[in-house]
Amino acid sequence: MLKGTNQELGRPHNRRIVLETIRQHGPLSRAQIARHVGLTIQTVSTITSELHERGFVDLQPGVPKGRGFPAPSLEINPDGGYACGVYVTPRGVEAGLIDLSGKVLAHEAVDAPQMTADAAFARIGDLVEEMVARCPRDRFIGVGMAMPGPFDIESMSFVGPTTMEGWRGVDVHERLQEAVPWPAFVEVDSAAAAHCERLYGVGEELFNFYYLYLGVGLGGCVIYDGQVVRGAWGNAGEIGHIPLVPDGDPCPCGNRGCLERYLSLEAHARRTPIVGEAGWLEETAPVLRSAIVTIENLFDPETIVLGGFAPPELRLKLLALTAELPNSLASRQDRVHPRVMLARCGADAVLRGAASLAITEVLSPRSAVRSQGATGGAATDPFAKAGSARIA
Ligand SMILES: [Zn+2]
Repeated sequence: MLKGTNQELGRPHNRRIVLETIRQHGPLSRAQIARHVGLTIQTVSTITSELHERGFVDLQPGVPKGRGFPAPSLEINPDGGYACGVYVTPRGVEAGLIDLSGKVLAHEAVDAPQMTADAAFARIGDLVEEMVARCPRDRFIGVGMAMPGPFDIESMSFVGPTTMEGWRGVDVHERLQEAVPWPAFVEVDSAAAAHCERLYGVGEELFNFYYLYLGVGLGGCVIYDGQVVRGAWGNAGEIGHIPLVPDGDPCPCGNRGCLERYLSLEAHARRTPIVGEAGWLEETAPVLRSAIVTIENLFDPETIVLGGFAPPELRLKLLALTAELPNSLASRQDRVHPRVMLARCGADAVLRGAASLAITEVLSPRSAVRSQGATGGAATDPFAKAGSARIA
């Protein structure tokens, strides 16, 4: 279980943990929540009163059984808040609306290959407005936007078929915040998908895992103690350019033998017309296994989740290649989960994760660069009045 902290500065963290616990396991009484998250009943009561006051959770009267006072129980109020997820890729823009339970209520996609930043942000402003129009405006919490990673690395972010060409020098967070009048957050797509998996997928049981994002390129993200690990610039876990094959294929990044030259949808599309899919799987297998072992040795995760928007059938075939893996830190006798698992969230993981991220960030702001200025001064911050949203 995720644990809270009894220090006052931990309040935003506790609020997030309590709300997530109610969403995942509710209805729960305050005592049950306290046991789940390791906080005192008093601390939990303070937080749940706050969440209830804001309309984020419903309070159900206890059902009388036997003698004694039945404890009231709390459950998530799906209509208590809404958020919008936006996903910008080299192929276009998508937007989705989720409620507080994480359900996707609306989804819109615009095909527009290699959009300029100006065109994209104009579109995003309109799309977000369309989404907000579908929910009570005063219940709208914020916007989370995802983009292919890694961010801002000259030769990896803007050059080649897996990147946002022409977006060099664009301050994405600033532009997003200008385009929408709501708290706005930006994340690498693999981190958004990992966040979704953490909230609604394998993360219901696991709090430390690595999410391998198989998209046009190859990305990934570490979930540690239930939270996305970002690194200094939001790129932690982005393994696509690890040069795993000595003297291998030249990569647009300037190195040779990068992982994503072999293991990605771009590689799949490039190689299958030449060697067939079976041939591609055969040549990719050793690279995939090395990647798995590398990730395990670096991050010591409970498991590696195979996700991204690669079709489920393809991910199943890749999973089969990991039936036998070389030795690593993960070769433990006491393993509970397999070393590699399939992601449980579907194709909308990035949108859902990006939207959920906006909710998480508003409820439980962190002091990282990307969120600065987003929660501060935002009239719609549901906790701004309490002043607590600014404690990071
Ligand atoms: Zn590379």
